Amino acid sequence: MILWRQLQRESFTALDKVALFLELDPENKAKLLSHKKFPLLLPKRLAAKIKKNDLKGPIAKQFLPVLEETFLQEGFVSDPVEDGSFRKTGKLLQKYQGRALILSTSVCAMHCRFCFRQNFAYEKEKLGFEEELAYLKEDTSIHEVILSGGDPLSLSDEALKALFVSLNELEHIRLVRFHSRFPIGIPERITEEFLEALTSCKKQIFFMLHVNHSEELDDDHFRTFKKIQRLGIPILTQTVLLKDVNDDKESLKTLFLLLVSHGLIPYYINHLDQVQGAGHFMVSKEKGLALLEELRSELPGYALPTFVEEAPHQPSKLVIR
Ligand SMILES: *Cc1c(COP(=O)(O)O)cnc(C)c1O
Ligand code: SF4
Repeated sequence: MILWRQLQRESFTALDKVALFLELDPENKAKLLSHKKFPLLLPKRLAAKIKKNDLKGPIAKQFLPVLEETFLQEGFVSDPVEDGSFRKTGKLLQKYQGRALILSTSVCAMHCRFCFRQNFAYEKEKLGFEEELAYLKEDTSIHEVILSGGDPLSLSDEALKALFVSLNELEHIRLVRFHSRFPIGIPERITEEFLEALTSCKKQIFFMLHVNHSEELDDDHFRTFKKIQRLGIPILTQTVLLKDVNDDKESLKTLFLLLVSHGLIPYYINHLDQVQGAGHFMVSKEKGLALLEELRSELPGYALPTFVEEAPHQPSKLVIR
């Protein structure tokens, strides 16, 4: 059901191998961290974009596990958004009115070192979504199903199709939203079969792509995204504001302009969720605000995402700007 083999073929999972590929000298190699619970997972396509023997670029920073992750920082906790307390079934969370989120798998195409779900206790026993579908059937106030994870694109096309067949039957569900980062690492995942699966869904789909830096993207991606867009599926993006990755005006401006010039709409820019091990990625809200303020005078309004933070026990994400 999960595309393990493809992931292993396409990705680095061993520190030794990635160090060799990146031609790290002993000093840089010594900065890498062997992290058993949230190990290295880096698609080769992304690794190829990292400058040799350099841990400072936006891709190296996001995906290479480093010793800083072991530093304890006050306020940085295991489950910062308290997702655990909003679980309605093994794999379904509901925090906000009308929208239910399915943790469709625990598997991603890459391990982003700042991920707020890196410690989440995923339900791994049951493969299907019977309990989740039963819950959705009962609660007719839910009009949108968000497929998140992990990454929903780590499900097979058959599993996705089966899910759509069931969702198609629920009249009160109007929208299906994907939250995915998968195609950034492996755009080849968007196969004809996958597109066909999307077409079998009778609800309006929105595809929300997690992308943080323009260097993550190349022409292959945009060619691939166009295939999704041609189906009448808007692609929105969310970006996490990350220290030394994209916390400067040029990086954000380049990214947002690149996205809109391919018809992708920057939806959210997220303040970092304070998960243990991610302290070195923190950017203050003040700095984020100042950056967006500057961009407002240089970009079309639709290229500027809403700056939000996730706060547990609020009726929505909190808008910073
Ligand atoms: C972010 C999020 C949503 C979606 O929020 P929108 O503001 O509609 O994008 C839904 N459920 C959960 C648990 C979320 O974290
Ligand atoms: S792809 Fe998303 S869920 Fe997966 S590790 Fe990255 S941020 Fe976390």
